[in-house]
Amino acid sequence: MQELLSIGTLNLPGLIDAAPVGVMLCDKSGTICFINKVVENIFGYGSEELTGKRVDILLPAEARGHHELSITNFFKEKRSRLIGEGAPLVAVHAQGHALQVEIGITTLEALDQTYAIAFVIDVSARYHEDKRIRYLMESMPFGLVLIDEVGAIQMTNAEFNRIFGYTADELLGQAVEVLLPERFRVSHVGFRDAFSKIPQSRKMGSGRELLAMRKNGLEFPAEIALTPLNDDGKKRVLVALSDVSLRKQMENTLRRQSLFDSLTSLPNRNLFFDRLEQACIKYARQKIGFAVLMIDLNRFKEVNDTLGHPVGDIVLREISQRLGMIMRHSDSIARLGGDEFAALLHAVEKEEDAIRLAEKMVDAVRQPVMVGQHALTIGISIGIALCPQHGTDQTTLIAHADHAMYQAKRGLHSVAVDRTNAKEMLAPPQAITTEIEHALQNNELQFYYQPKIDLINGKLVGIEALIRWLRPNGGVISPIEFMPAIEDSAILERFTLATLELALRQLRSFLDMGLHIGIAVNISARMLEHDQLEDHIIDSLKRYRVPPGLLTLEITETALVINPVKARRAIDMLDQYGVQFSIDDFGAGFTSFKYLKSFQIAEIKIDQEFVTAIENGSFDANLVQSIAGFCKGLNIRLVAEGVESESDFQILQQLGCQFGQGYYIARPMPVEAFLAWLNTRDQGVTQ
Ligand code: C2E
Ligand code: CA
Ligand code: CA
Repeated sequence: MQELLSIGTLNLPGLIDAAPVGVMLCDKSGTICFINKVVENIFGYGSEELTGKRVDILLPAEARGHHELSITNFFKEKRSRLIGEGAPLVAVHAQGHALQVEIGITTLEALDQTYAIAFVIDVSARYHEDKRIRYLMESMPFGLVLIDEVGAIQMTNAEFNRIFGYTADELLGQAVEVLLPERFRVSHVGFRDAFSKIPQSRKMGSGRELLAMRKNGLEFPAEIALTPLNDDGKKRVLVALSDVSLRKQMENTLRRQSLFDSLTSLPNRNLFFDRLEQACIKYARQKIGFAVLMIDLNRFKEVNDTLGHPVGDIVLREISQRLGMIMRHSDSIARLGGDEFAALLHAVEKEEDAIRLAEKMVDAVRQPVMVGQHALTIGISIGIALCPQHGTDQTTLIAHADHAMYQAKRGLHSVAVDRTNAKEMLAPPQAITTEIEHALQNNELQFYYQPKIDLINGKLVGIEALIRWLRPNGGVISPIEFMPAIEDSAILERFTLATLELALRQLRSFLDMGLHIGIAVNISARMLEHDQLEDHIIDSLKRYRVPPGLLTLEITETALVINPVKARRAIDMLDQYGVQFSIDDFGAGFTSFKYLKSFQIAEIKIDQEFVTAIENGSFDANLVQSIAGFCKGLNIRLVAEGVESESDFQILQQLGCQFGQGYYIARPMPVEAFLAWLNTRDQGVTQ
């Protein structure tokens, strides 16, 4: 053996003994010829105990069987190999316990013989450390991967494999970059290099986010934390990773919810105001004007109340879609809430341009929305304000557009541009109810009266009392501006009783003049639920000695639906006493003859929008005809509202609608004007 290891004067055995790794020499039969000190220490044998023994003495009993074959193969192939790297080889210590080694083995030709020379490293300590790490890794609730200093995957835990969809074996030894989308791989190598150079004292592990890629190629957002592990002088990195796609999705949903309306997917109020603010800022800088549109559905509340919210939702979605289609790409349309929408038209500086677009919207919405067998016709009113003509800040622009919207609701056209200046504008609803209370006390609320005539013989059938707020400064405020606030507030009851009182006083005064003219008073749906309404009305009729038949109460279908039991009781009781009921705005959104049949109804008023439809050609003659047939059969007066022209007048007459009311016949007017109007006509009064 000595001669085998002697090369000139070199003391090779001495050198080999001093080597930091174990060195072992075996002959072809697998017999140990030489070991150095390190091997003695690793396995716990003295040199004399091992030399001459078969090398498989160092292996666990169960591995000895195949070892013979491995030795034969090794000498046949004469290929250097590393055994146990990554997954260490198990060996047995002289004292019987297992240890983990890595072996580098190669052949050595000497003295016409072939030997195997093996370099042995005891990796037990690291193996146990790794085992401990593995144990820790498996117990963690997130994905973990251990990467060596060149970026190869050494270990993953089950959660990590689950997230990426690989088995543990598939990943071992692979570059960590396989876990990234291809486009990031090259740059990641650079990051990894940089990271490995960072001094170990630097604190790592703050959360970072990146896009990772599963085995199936799908990318997902992941949050990672890096911890360098510097054991055995090897710079490994433990990466903790969680799949945050679910959280991201939720964040996105939340973000959408806070900026978009969940029902229609349109931008919501927040986003709209944000965009409006941007537009105002842009105007300040670049002087590019724009238009703000406030859009409100007409009587949408009734669709909701009568047909239910699911139907209301369908309508809102359909209408949002139609409105969206008309917009240019650069414009924004938003749902502010309920049936209120708004639009921002960028770089629309001319009134005519804004009006043209708004009219397109009106036309698109006017087409019936089909829900089941119902064909719902929903109108919209649009108010326009322009920047800079009406103002250059959000609040002013919105206030003007809003005001214009109310003008549209009240006026002849569905689209209006604001004509007032800011000072004349009304206060917000809260303030309005307080003002209305004062107005009630100061008798500033008065009725205008609008005649209702027989379209065939032109005779007056009665008049509708329409409330006006006559402000001391001479302004006449329309109920459209304050009724919604009243209806939502506690003063509704006082308001209703006060208006009934006004009507009865007027009836008394007509009677005193010898005029037998019936008055129709509008009653808000919510009032019909009121307990003492019937008693109060009957009392007042008696007090003013007015024949009950001269009083008509106009209610909407909504009133019948909100609380049918109470509505029926009120209607039955008042009907028996002789008071008449009229169904107002009939056909606006909801039409149910069957339901109506069960109530004692004296009159039906076809909604103004039906009549408007005559003008624009979207008129549903069949529907009016069938309403007329229904009314005739039940002896109900059919009145068309909003008769604005000679042609409306004639068409309605032909379709069998006998009565009409509208600007073409007469506008609502103060009582004196009404009396004057009556005097100019000598057709008399029809009862
Ligand atoms: P309504 O009951 O449908 O009243 C008819 C509305 O149509 C009135 O608006 C009337 O001025 C308007 N009008 C009449 N003829 C025409 C026409 O040919 N063309 C057009 N475009 N409009 C016409 P007004 O007076 O502004 O009243 C609006 C609404 O306010 C009423 O609608 C009613 O719902 C409510 N209202 C009015 N007075 C009272 C009241 O004393 N009590 C309650 N609860 N509501 C009232
Ligand atoms: Ca009415
Ligand atoms: Ca009406």
